[in-house]
Amino acid sequence: MSAELTGIGAAPGVAIGRPFVVEPPATEVPDPGPSGPPAAEKARLHAALVQAADELHAMAERMRAVAGEEAEIFEAHAAFATDPEVEDQAAPLIDAGRSAVAAVSAAFGAFRALLAASSSEYMAARAADLDDVCARVVGILSGVSRGYDLPEGRSVLLARELTPSQTAEIPRDRIAGVVTETGSPTSHAAILARTLGIPAVVGATGVLAVAAGASIVAVDGRTGEVHVEPDADVLAALTARAGQEEARRVALEAASHEPGRTADGVAVELVANVAGRDDLAAAVAAGAEGAGLVRTELLFQDRRTEPSVDEQAAYYGEVLAAFPGRRVVFRTLDVGADKPLPFVVREPEPNPALGVRGIRLSLRRPKLFEDQLRALVRAHRDRPGGGVTGVMFPLVSRVDEVVAARSELERVAGDEGVSLDGIEVGVMIEVPSAALAAGRIAPHVDFFSVGTNDLLQYLFAVDRLVAEVAELTDVCEPLVLDLIAHVVDNATAHGTWVGVCGETASDPEVAAALVGLGVRELSMVPGALGEVKDLLRRHDLASLTTVAEDARHAGDAAEARAILAKLA
Ligand code: PEP
Ligand code: MG
Repeated sequence: MSAELTGIGAAPGVAIGRPFVVEPPATEVPDPGPSGPPAAEKARLHAALVQAADELHAMAERMRAVAGEEAEIFEAHAAFATDPEVEDQAAPLIDAGRSAVAAVSAAFGAFRALLAASSSEYMAARAADLDDVCARVVGILSGVSRGYDLPEGRSVLLARELTPSQTAEIPRDRIAGVVTETGSPTSHAAILARTLGIPAVVGATGVLAVAAGASIVAVDGRTGEVHVEPDADVLAALTARAGQEEARRVALEAASHEPGRTADGVAVELVANVAGRDDLAAAVAAGAEGAGLVRTELLFQDRRTEPSVDEQAAYYGEVLAAFPGRRVVFRTLDVGADKPLPFVVREPEPNPALGVRGIRLSLRRPKLFEDQLRALVRAHRDRPGGGVTGVMFPLVSRVDEVVAARSELERVAGDEGVSLDGIEVGVMIEVPSAALAAGRIAPHVDFFSVGTNDLLQYLFAVDRLVAEVAELTDVCEPLVLDLIAHVVDNATAHGTWVGVCGETASDPEVAAALVGLGVRELSMVPGALGEVKDLLRRHDLASLTTVAEDARHAGDAAEARAILAKLA
């Protein structure tokens, strides 16, 4: 019998296939009893935790190319697996005769109970992350494969909820789409589905019961429609829609190497966010005109000693070589107590987002900063094919930080005998005080790049990692558009150009509004470049400006988004 449900469209595209139900990953299995003496059982546990962390690091690395910042969730998961507390808690249980698998699920269970009971929503939300990691370790120890055991043909995944790693492990060639009963379009799983190009509908309450025993499910990830056993007419209509989506994908790909511009020819540099070597090929293939944000953290993390100047220069040179003649913006190290570096001894901080992070750390560690600047200057000097190299400082909150950082760059460049002519100096505008001080900072730099991820976090006092409060922030809130307009107006008055490198730049309608406000560079995950390029090419600057101004004067974000939707 055919049935229809409506959920929330979370990732565009039409999917038609056999339903395949995915169960939550098992965090407990029947205790098989120890397979050897306690010492051997502890060694088995240790090896399983190391393997889980390795798998999660590899997953983060793979996901960075397509999912950008979203990949960091897997680094956070890897950190859970290697937390020594897990082994400390499990050891006495193993000594008392329990198996590694029983001991580790008890240890994770105890942490989970603590987190779930926490009055902090952030901590409570981490409980689900722990389950994801625990299930991986339990799977390794009990020899259960985590892979999907799919039937022939293409399937539509149905689940109550998908964990981030279940989403990342979806075999793209066999899974046409995803439907979940719970979740929001801003959940990790939904964002991952979007960046992986898997059509998805979330919040389709009751779909598991309705689709039980069905032979076909059809989903539209734009409209949120879910059809179970659709009749011939519905199926034909959805098949036609799927064909249109595919034709669109092919057209976007064909246009991917044309430059970014509006319909009346105003250039908008469409560039990529790069977090590691793997991103380079994806960025070039997607038609990126350069890199607007090279996150340099990767080179510094997961190691015991600081990378040498030569090692850094070699890596920066590799990135530059991928974009001959283009502008490539390197962001200097942006770490804090949230991503501690073993070679930087520091006090723990109760609130890492507000502590010694970004440029604050670099200015307090002169040698670390000098080495990075020296490596960047040398890589620029030796750059094949030429092009502008940008050096950008993160988490700037005051003018004096910019003055100090710039003067250190000038000193190091002088020392190396390299002219600053081909080097542009910029700052991230991601702290409200810097946004408000745009007119005072602009005379000291060549460009600004608005980091909306952090700007929204600090503006609304909403931790960017806590899903429950995510809906309190929206780049389309008129006050945010006003603030960005303030930044652009004050920057351009001093000849300083403005880009945006936060995740919001990858939303085509938001990107169009940003261009209407005067932004001339948009940096995003490579997968988003095609849709943004396409939308910009269909509107002239005057209409983008009108729409952006109308959105700025809307009553709230919902009204502003409705205004922007007219562009699509
Ligand atoms: C931002 O804050 O918007 C940004 C791009 O930087 P990150 O996400 O690396 O903090
Ligand atoms: Mg930031």
